[in-house]
Amino acid sequence: MDIFVRKGDSLWHYSQLFKINLQLINDSNPDLQANSLSIGQRVCIPGFVAQEYQVLHGDTLWRIAQSRHLSLEAILLVNPNINPNNINVGQTIKIPLRITWRLVNGRQNYDYKLLMNDIKRLQNVYPFLQVPSIGNTVLGKTIPEILIGKGGNKVHYNGSFHANEWITTSVIMTFINDYLLSLTNQNTIRGLSTSRYYQQTNLSVVPMVNPDGVDLVFHGPPAKEPWKQKVVEYNKGSTDFSGWKANIRGIDLNDQFPARWELEKARNPDHPGPRDYGGEKPLSEPEAIAMAELTKKRDFSRVLAFHTQGEVIYWGFENAEPPESEVIVKEFSRVSGYEPVKTIESYAGYKDWFIQDWRRPGFTVEIGRGVNPLPITQFDEIYKKTLGIFLAGLYM
Ligand SMILES: [Zn+2]
Repeated sequence: MDIFVRKGDSLWHYSQLFKINLQLINDSNPDLQANSLSIGQRVCIPGFVAQEYQVLHGDTLWRIAQSRHLSLEAILLVNPNINPNNINVGQTIKIPLRITWRLVNGRQNYDYKLLMNDIKRLQNVYPFLQVPSIGNTVLGKTIPEILIGKGGNKVHYNGSFHANEWITTSVIMTFINDYLLSLTNQNTIRGLSTSRYYQQTNLSVVPMVNPDGVDLVFHGPPAKEPWKQKVVEYNKGSTDFSGWKANIRGIDLNDQFPARWELEKARNPDHPGPRDYGGEKPLSEPEAIAMAELTKKRDFSRVLAFHTQGEVIYWGFENAEPPESEVIVKEFSRVSGYEPVKTIESYAGYKDWFIQDWRRPGFTVEIGRGVNPLPITQFDEIYKKTLGIFLAGLYM
């Protein structure tokens, strides 16, 4: 919501007036010099929208403010050009509206278009979010990263490495929305006050690593050749893509990382297909390259890759994981009921590579239980169990 500076205003004053943390206001107005506000200047207040309202017979600004638990000043700030003593029936004014509900609805088929639309809506209300692109898919889609917080503890979450595990994206996006709601409304989540997470942590989220694959699962082959024909061929002639995990070239992005890649290749298919083919060489695919580049650039202190299914958390790789990995996974297990599993015979995954090259905690969290793609009817149960993990990822 945009407001307009009046004589004597300060960002601190707005923070008191709207009950929004000053840091969030600062971060929503990166181009603003806090000490040199000029009269009439536009300032963005996160967590609010300005709702249009048509003045009715008998209305006064004071009464409109009072009925919405707002100060008169708050209304005047979004209406720099109205005369408070003279509003007319039928006149349209703006009224600050605090957002206290989710904008993201995770309980639905969550494709790339929905993701991008939700990100745009969140950015509009929460301009302190940063959303850089980490690169493009084979089909040219932008892969967004969402950044929240200003701290030195760099935590990374990602979802939908595997196409038919798209429910991970809807669960992650719901968590982001709940985190934003708790920050702007200063509400706790499960008794935890989140504002200190914002101060201490820089959360990086890539909610959909494999958008081409996710859209293939939902919408069938893309219009573009050669992929339109190739994917059906890779899928053994079937147009049912519900078992598809790979990217659009039939390469499994979570078998693409240089962490004993040769071992993984030896036990997997040697040609493109719906799952498990690791490609001709590690990091051949743009989506995997984008994730590797991001990870090098950001220097994460820990990473959590969300997959389905099994309600287990993998936390080791070739004994390269640091001792704190076990402490952290025990907390994840405590808050979710998920079972920690140190290792299985599996290589070349994103978390494997992270543990191997950084010697820092990396986790693969297998959410939900059943046959992929998990039905969206599991959403509430999955969210209830995983919420604790999302939170513990920030405080551990
Ligand atoms: Zn997976």
